[in-house]
Amino acid sequence: MSNHLVQPGKITHKVTCTLCGGLIMEPPAFNLPIVGRPDDETSRKVKKMTEVLQRHMQRKHPEQFALGMMHVIAFSDWLTMSAFEFEDETLTPRQEATRAAIFALVRQNTFTDANLLHVISTLGLDPDEEKRVFDFAAALRNSMLEIGPQQPEQPGPRLVTL
Ligand SMILES: [Zn+2]
Repeated sequence: MSNHLVQPGKITHKVTCTLCGGLIMEPPAFNLPIVGRPDDETSRKVKKMTEVLQRHMQRKHPEQFALGMMHVIAFSDWLTMSAFEFEDETLTPRQEATRAAIFALVRQNTFTDANLLHVISTLGLDPDEEKRVFDFAAALRNSMLEIGPQQPEQPGPRLVTL
């Protein structure tokens, strides 16, 4: 694959597709600031890379690309509708379901029951206390991550299946 982002003599960083394992490009480090806006040249390079990645998704993974576009549209609709109040009560649960699906898609952290049990086992509690702490921690996790019994209902087709 031709790679128009590689610059000879520069340290590069591989960009690999997680879907097919393909090496897409090896651009030089962008040196993006953690906080704040990158300069215009860096922004242009990142946009160029994103366009290459989008073309890869369109050509090699059209179903995943279409699903991604559905998420973009759903998020855009959600943002727009969030600025309004509706007397039609059927819109509110639908809006909440979209928000929950987007949250499920973008949340990074989770804890399994095994993770919680491992952490709690280091506290030196008796078995009854361990059970109470686990129940509390699991309920808190479920509420914060909106999983298990705390997972919101999603009327209609699910954006995200977890
Ligand atoms: Zn791929």
